[in-house]
Amino acid sequence: MQQLLLIGAGHAHALVLEAFAKKPEPNIAITVVSDNPLAAYSGSVPAWLAGECTLRETQIDVAALCQRANARLILSPASMISTQPRYVALANGECVNFDVASFNIGSTLTLPQQLGESLPKLLAMRPLSSLHQRWLALQNEISHLPNGGTQRVMGVGGGAAGCETLMSVLAQLRQQRPDIEWQGHLLSAANELLPGAGHLPRWLIKRALSKAAITVHFEQRGETLIEGGVATQNDKRLDADIVLWATGAVGHPWLADSPLPLDKHGFIRVENTLEVTGQPNIFAVGDCAGFTPALPNAGVYAVRMGPHLANNLRLVCRGEPLAPWHPPKRVLALIGTGDRRAIASRGGFGVSGKWVWEWKKRIDARFIARFNPPFED
Ligand SMILES: Cc1cc2nc3c(=O)[nH]c(=O)nc-3n(C[C@H](O)[C@H](O)[C@H](O)COP(=O)(O)OP(=O)(O)OC[C@H]3O[C@@H](n4cnc5c(N)ncnc54)[C@H](O)[C@@H]3O)c2cc1C
Repeated sequence: MQQLLLIGAGHAHALVLEAFAKKPEPNIAITVVSDNPLAAYSGSVPAWLAGECTLRETQIDVAALCQRANARLILSPASMISTQPRYVALANGECVNFDVASFNIGSTLTLPQQLGESLPKLLAMRPLSSLHQRWLALQNEISHLPNGGTQRVMGVGGGAAGCETLMSVLAQLRQQRPDIEWQGHLLSAANELLPGAGHLPRWLIKRALSKAAITVHFEQRGETLIEGGVATQNDKRLDADIVLWATGAVGHPWLADSPLPLDKHGFIRVENTLEVTGQPNIFAVGDCAGFTPALPNAGVYAVRMGPHLANNLRLVCRGEPLAPWHPPKRVLALIGTGDRRAIASRGGFGVSGKWVWEWKKRIDARFIARFNPPFED
């Protein structure tokens, strides 16, 4: 019997569990370690931030999925891995032995330095798994703001997640507190938005930000939260009452103390088989995996890796050679703009409209429904 340990219930592991539920392996015992019985599905998060669906509609029921795959679920985050002997230590003190392990624990971000008092309210967009707690706490604070006046909301980070979440959050705040004038600002360290996207999608996102009355500040790298705002790397001070921190993804800090090889962002270095470099029988996928060349941190890549990982896990447990994974050259990104519209972007192609938003919602709902038992509300 091979002991297979899945660490984190990210998008790829959800697909692995689905694959093992459909085609069980009698010689593999699966254990899943997760910090939560419900896992956030990234594609649906912007719709929830904009108030268009319930939180539950954005979550994968990990416990139900484990049951289908006949996997043991342990609800406690992994906090340490030993490769000799092979075990993972959990926050609850338990140690779980494994023959084969796979990491799908997502990413986090580096929080800004915080100097002084009366700092702006901060909403860190990563880790995604606990974003709902931070967003609900912020909404609660906002419900206690005095009537009237102006609030400046500053998004820091000009990637797809930064642009999309700023527009979604502003849409929801304007709806929640129409008595307040909500001003939007976006800081982008680069001189363009959506790194890696074509000219047309970039133009569409700029147009959507402008429609949402958001002023974009290019070549401004937000660095520190200061009294009443944000200081940039070149010492510019910008006023802000609320700051959405959506800078680039980095690996979870506890991995730095592990024997696993990490890249400069703290992601676990992997080969094209998804196996960790120099660590046979240990795999990493999704945001936490560091490829050469690097891949964008987007849920769509984690999803594409899932079925391939399932296959390689079966092969490694049988002692057979692994198959290489070839990342897609281009992927479709569907970016919500907070006004019940979205932008579809693929390479140089871009289009926007209400139908794109409806299409995105249908794709995401169908994806989540694969894993969840029917809702009972
Ligand atoms: C606000 C926001 C919006 C985004 N919108 C989109 C989008 O629309 N489309 C898109 O493609 N991408 C989007 N992204 C990017 C996307 O979220 C990530 O690329 C994607 O979630 C990565 O998937 P994953 O499976 O690697 O990890 P995750 O989805 O983050 O899953 C990791 C899981 O591991 C668990 N975990 C973490 N640490 C531990 C531990 N120590 N032990 C056990 N379990 C642990 C977490 O609870 C989580 O369930 C967005 C990102 C952000 C921040």
